[in-house]
Amino acid sequence: MSDGIIVINAGSSSIKFSLYLKNGHKDPDLVCKGLMEGIGVAPEFSAKAPDGTPLANERWGAEATHETLFGHLMDWIKGQLGGARLLGAGHRVVHGGQTYRVPTVVDAHVLADLEKLTPLAPLHAPHNISPMKTLARLYPGLKQVACFDTAFHTTNDPISCLYAIPRWLLDEGVRRYGFHGLSYEYISRRLKEIDPALAKGKVVVCHLGSGASMCAIDNGRSVTTTLGFSTLEGLPMGTRTGILDSGIILYLLQEKKMSAKEIETLLFKQSGLLGLSGLSNDMRVLMGSDDPHAKEAVDFFIYRICRELGSLSAALGGIDGVVFTAGIGERSQAVRARVLERSSWLGFAVDPAANTALEGRISPPGAKAAYVIPTDEELMIAIHTLHTLEPVPA
Ligand code: ADP
Repeated sequence: MSDGIIVINAGSSSIKFSLYLKNGHKDPDLVCKGLMEGIGVAPEFSAKAPDGTPLANERWGAEATHETLFGHLMDWIKGQLGGARLLGAGHRVVHGGQTYRVPTVVDAHVLADLEKLTPLAPLHAPHNISPMKTLARLYPGLKQVACFDTAFHTTNDPISCLYAIPRWLLDEGVRRYGFHGLSYEYISRRLKEIDPALAKGKVVVCHLGSGASMCAIDNGRSVTTTLGFSTLEGLPMGTRTGILDSGIILYLLQEKKMSAKEIETLLFKQSGLLGLSGLSNDMRVLMGSDDPHAKEAVDFFIYRICRELGSLSAALGGIDGVVFTAGIGERSQAVRARVLERSSWLGFAVDPAANTALEGRISPPGAKAAYVIPTDEELMIAIHTLHTLEPVPA
């Protein structure tokens, strides 16, 4: 009987979970995926098999606490395991600061450390930490592993991590970190299987989801990325600004008399595709709309991706290929085609027939390599959790 690994990806409004079973030397097998949402309001618990067959769909009263829901989740998971042992739980953690450079077993000391890092990611970190604390309280014997979205970027050249600010601010950790690292790590790993020669070269990966960033990767190592200190820099996202002149923050403070909280809401929740279009943060809605602001939001998104592609190519000292991933990158043929056509000066082109693929090369022979590869951050966490708890002998 094989061992199970539960993966927890906790956000502000929902907690995603997945159960995997160890599969010898191969990647763990997905058993089911699920979601707990509406916590504190109208909690719902749902789960599906890998083929989409519903396995659970339950509603709870608003009084159901985090602990009640996690207790229920773990009982349900035990049922799914059918007698197999639960090896441990792997968590997605948005920020590991400068300390946490590899997946790490969670103990009281690590939890206290991660709490200290919350000012670096105040909107995300508390949601990541809370399930670890709940599980530690409910199941003190359960091994937990924290997997960091920043870790993949710890190979970045120190120069690329700087902001030109006074040293004392840099010294207390105000610098570029980068995020979406678990996704980039998964894509690098998958690219090695799909196109081993390209995986050894200079590649830009475009992670275009409701959060969006791009990463310059050289021979599998992150060189730099468009997200920096917080999850705001770089590309415009569903509701986040992307790059912004910091003078705008001063304008909002001094002229508009906005509070820090109001500015935070504006930057994280009211901007990006939603702010520009005034319509939606969903690319599908914007693509289907004839509203001129919706068109402008999409045009700006494409324009910024292409600018960053040039900038990241400069950081790499050349470019051999590009990979599209995450919601928009995996599903929008139009976004991929427009980015590749506009980047013809770098040697890119699109093959319209190949561009319908769910995974594979989408550029014609003779052009630089462009791929679509679905990401799988949860599988990456399961692999890290397994390797951290059961290291493969050297
Ligand atoms: P998250 O960052 O929440 O994990 P995803 O990677 O799931 O985000 O991406 C979600 C986004 O993908 C949605 O906001 C939507 O704009 C976009 N998306 C999903 N399907 C399509 C599609 N067929 N065409 C264009 N965009 C899509």
